[in-house]
Amino acid sequence: MSEPFQGHTPGLLADRPSRALDLEEFRSNGHLLVDWIADYLKDLGERPVCEPTAPGDVRAQLPRRAPEQPEPFSEVLSDLEQVIVPALAHWQHPGWFAYFPAMSSPASVLGELAAAGLGVQGMMWSSSPALTELEAHVLDWLVDLMGLPQGWKTSAAGGGTLTSGASSSTHIAMVAARETCRGRTGAPIEQMVAYTSGQSHSSVEKGARIAGFGHIRLLDTDHDFAVKPGALNSAICQDRRLGLTPASVISALGTTGTTAVDPIAHMGDIATRERLWHHVDAAYAGSAMICEEFRHHLAGVELADSYTFNPHKWLATNLDCSVLWVADRKPLIDAMSIEPPYLRNSASDSGQVIDYRNWGVSLGRPFRALKLWFVLRDHGAEGLRQLIRNHRTWAEDLSTRIDNHSSLTLIAPTTFALVSFAHVDGDAATRALAQTINDSGRFFVTVSESDTGAYIRIAIGSTWTSRRHIDSLWRFIEANALQTAETPTRERH
Ligand code: PLP
Repeated sequence: MSEPFQGHTPGLLADRPSRALDLEEFRSNGHLLVDWIADYLKDLGERPVCEPTAPGDVRAQLPRRAPEQPEPFSEVLSDLEQVIVPALAHWQHPGWFAYFPAMSSPASVLGELAAAGLGVQGMMWSSSPALTELEAHVLDWLVDLMGLPQGWKTSAAGGGTLTSGASSSTHIAMVAARETCRGRTGAPIEQMVAYTSGQSHSSVEKGARIAGFGHIRLLDTDHDFAVKPGALNSAICQDRRLGLTPASVISALGTTGTTAVDPIAHMGDIATRERLWHHVDAAYAGSAMICEEFRHHLAGVELADSYTFNPHKWLATNLDCSVLWVADRKPLIDAMSIEPPYLRNSASDSGQVIDYRNWGVSLGRPFRALKLWFVLRDHGAEGLRQLIRNHRTWAEDLSTRIDNHSSLTLIAPTTFALVSFAHVDGDAATRALAQTINDSGRFFVTVSESDTGAYIRIAIGSTWTSRRHIDSLWRFIEANALQTAETPTRERH
């Protein structure tokens, strides 16, 4: 007869396979690591934003083979500091203004740690009930906090799910759009058309491609980079004449290039009339909806079928954490459900629980809601609003300074906290200015291109950025933005 299970004290087991099971070591190493992270963040402003590194530098310092024997944690930590950190672009640096932010915060880091410590898996309710219920609950909270349609709550017909990113969210939405169109029209997917702005993020085109849409139309935009009214209607008419099947439209609430907002209500009206799935990509700007003054941009979302935004961009929650909401969860679940016998269970059969594996592509799902919950509770909605408002105010101030400078010109309105501008002397001067900014090691910006040429994007959104960093960035720009050449001068926006 076997001995009854007595439980054990990990770490005291004589036959444990490695000291990886020693919880006392875990405890002390964990404290060391948290101290290390706190020091890293405290001193980050003193480092160059992007450490100078050549391709292959890091691998050249790593052993050719994985260790056969356990190594002390102190050595791992020391290599983290000496090999890895000096070859990073420091996204949490207060001088980080590139791309869009990948905002994090101490509460989020702790939430991530707690999720890793719990190590649970949220493929369905029964695989970890609290994971599913917290996710549904927090996303219902966000519906209220962001002034979104009540019908998007899991307590109503819709619901939210957390995914790895807006690319994933959009991909999932496009599969639901495809299946809805197939069910309604019987059209083959090669005939289906998706419509989006010429300024939309590449993930939209990729999502359409992965979902198998036969065609994607990139609609013309106006001088503010938003879809031109009329562009969607004429593209649909033309495609119908060609015998194609319009299936989906994706509008942007904050494009990547300049944070332009498409005419969502107008596009939504057409989508409703034509019975197209309307997905709204608010990956970056969606976070701002926590502040009421931005909510006029939501006009028309009540007609949308799905909507995505990334707390991992601008809501103090570290990667990865993207929300996908649907107005009606049924078509999504119909498109995504497969029921193998090994996943069947009585809770699912009862129809009373959410099984998030049927809301997306991945089966295995991490406990993403935990960090979001930590962040919401640690900041409170008011704290998050304050972060967004600060960034917005500093971006407006910076825009005004740029607008008043004779050598610089804004190329798009500053709608959120992204400032897009160019040097009046043209592309070479713009690129040279960006290079000078980045070479300083104190700030990091990205350059993009529009129809009128190259421009610099300054996206304010690091947790650790304060007004004084924006002031010193401005002083640096001002000192380096002198008229450079007799090349043709750009028109001011
Ligand atoms: N949509 C927009 C408007 C974006 O700006 C981005 C990224 O910057 C994405 C989608 C892709 O987001 P993710 O990296 O979460 O897939």
